[in-house]
Amino acid sequence: MNLVHLLPVGKVDLSLLHDLRAAIPRSLHVACEILPYELDPTPSYHPERQQYHSSEILQRMQTLVRPQDWRFLAVADVDLYIPILKYVFGEAQMGGPCAVVSLHRLRQEFYGLAPDLPLLSQRLLTESVHELGHTLDLRHCQDYSCVMASSHSVEWIDLRETTLCDSCRYQLESHPSIAEKRA
Ligand SMILES: [Zn+2]
Ligand SMILES: [Zn+2]
Repeated sequence: MNLVHLLPVGKVDLSLLHDLRAAIPRSLHVACEILPYELDPTPSYHPERQQYHSSEILQRMQTLVRPQDWRFLAVADVDLYIPILKYVFGEAQMGGPCAVVSLHRLRQEFYGLAPDLPLLSQRLLTESVHELGHTLDLRHCQDYSCVMASSHSVEWIDLRETTLCDSCRYQLESHPSIAEKRA
């Protein structure tokens, strides 16, 4: 079975990572494992933005991927951006193998609300499956309840299911790296 490696970026709540490892296989029919090391986010910090450049994190992740590895999903707890946007919840390499997501703006506390751990865990799953979908060539979906719907704010993330709509599922099943494993 295809294996997703979860990579903590700096200090990340391990219980959230364990929940994610258990949940991703239910959404995507892949196996999931937490890597025993972490990636230091510090080199991707840009003081002028007080944020971390997600594309630079992806580039550094790329150097960790061995030929036999399938997908790497990094989980950060710092605020991510790309230069043309104020922030991103995550970023993926279209067609793989690397994607990164951040907990930072998924937390209720970020919006001045009381912490909600189950909601945070759910948002992390949705965002993770979304970015992994991009690594499998899926583009944004018009169905707002599909995990591949685009989201400009956290409210949009909450509208998504943690799974693919039928159309995205069909596309995914014909993706070479999934289809050949079934043959
Ligand atoms: Zn997207
Ligand atoms: Zn869809």
